[in-house]
Order: sequence, then C-alpha cells, then structure tokens
Amino acid sequence: MEKNIFKPYLTLVALLILTSLALAFTVDVELSDQAGVVLELPDKLDDWVGNELRFCHNPGCYETNSTGGQYYIRNLELPDICPDCGEDLYKMSWAEYDALPHDTLFVKSAYTNENGGRVFVSIVLSGAERSSIHRPQRCLVGQGQTISGDHVIEVPLAGRKPVRVMVLETEQLAGTAEKRHKYTSYYAYWFVGQDRETPSHLARMFWLGWDRVFRSVAHKWAYIAVSGIREEGNDEYDAEIADFVEKLYPHLLVENDNLRGTP
Ligand SMILES: [Zn+2]
Repeated sequence: MEKNIFKPYLTLVALLILTSLALAFTVDVELSDQAGVVLELPDKLDDWVGNELRFCHNPGCYETNSTGGQYYIRNLELPDICPDCGEDLYKMSWAEYDALPHDTLFVKSAYTNENGGRVFVSIVLSGAERSSIHRPQRCLVGQGQTISGDHVIEVPLAGRKPVRVMVLETEQLAGTAEKRHKYTSYYAYWFVGQDRETPSHLARMFWLGWDRVFRSVAHKWAYIAVSGIREEGNDEYDAEIADFVEKLYPHLLVENDNLRGTP
C-alpha cells in the first residue's frame, strides 16, 4: 500500500504541468463537437422500462409543488408542457440550469422492472466551456449525502475490454428528529471523452490537459451515472450495477472503436 501514497500527488503535479502547458498553447486548440456517447436513453432495456424526467423552470412549480417541478414523461399528456403551469419543460432542473453553463446537455431516466428494481440513470454532456462536469463527490455531499466508501468495478462487455465504473457507497439520514432512519444507496459513474473512458475524475482532468497540449483537441466529455438503493452490509448491488451497465452500454455507443487508455 505504501508505494501508492504519492500516487495522487504525482497525478496532481502532472496536472499542474499540463495545465500550464495548456494555458500556453490554448490558442491552437480545436474544440471538438463530437461527443463520445449518444445523448439518449432507451425506452426499454431488456426487462427494465425507462421513464424520462422533465423539469419545470417556473418558481411557482419547483418551489411550491410537492413534485418540486419534476415530472415523469409517461405521466404527462404533452411531453414538454408543464401540467401545472403550462410552461415548457426541460431535461435539467432549474438549479442545474442556473449553476452550469447553459450549453450543458442532460438526459435522465428512472428504470423499473417487475422484480421491484429501480435504477436512476443520468448523462451529462459538457458544452463549449468544458466546465459543466464537476467532481460527483462534491455534488452528492452538497445534496446532504455522506460517502462511506468507494470502489471500482469492471463490467465485462462483448467484443472489447471491460468498462471500469466507480461505485460510491452513499447514505443519508431521513425522517424526523425522533424517528430517523438511514437510507443507504449507491452512485456509480464513469466519464467518456471522444475516444477516452475513465472512472476517475483526476484521470479525466489529466486527459483533458493532455489532449489539449499533445493533440490540440478539447473534447466534449460526458458523465454517465447509475444510482439506486443498496442494503447495508450486502454487496449484491455491485452485480446489479454490472448487469445494468452491460445492458445500457451498447445503447450509448457512437461510431468509435478506438477508445484509448483507462488509467
Ligand atoms: Zn410548471
């Protein structure tokens, strides 16, 4: 274990060097509009049925309605019109729209199956500013979750090497002060550039700098997250994530068969 102590710092130093180089050379960087994934989620995924989310940006809806201005598309008569106020619905919440560059693209869907399974999927695609994707840990803690552990799983895929996925073990206290209960969940994610793929935020930052300097390209990075509930002390959810990602992955592919290293 000891030899790994300096590993994060080495990455950081490499990042700093690359960032300095990137700043010196950004003039010639070509912004690539090509994303590494399709920004669409399938209606059905084997035995899973998807229900996409839409959001109302009218404060009258997201501040006061019990739904928080959030609607499932299968419950809507008109897919892009708010049933409460009649305004347009969007694929990201007002809070996300307000906080992120406005060309950031989202798609979110909740999948359920007949066994009572429920998995929530989201894809975020960065825009021209390339600053739309933050460290997921920061956002989760900001939402009141505690991260009790993390690990990387390898999901086997037909015809290529496995995709590596970061799994965060999350928990949150719910209920009233007298009757609190712990809600345990997982949050799994990986990042995809035009021809890069990694479960690590630091590695993504590294490739962002590397490709700017040595390939003169700034990719649009996508961030794919799969989340659901887990039972404390039971790691069966890893198998659920692997099974779901294996089914989802082929639907996200764009024409690209030369994915580069996954550190
Ligand atoms: Zn509304």
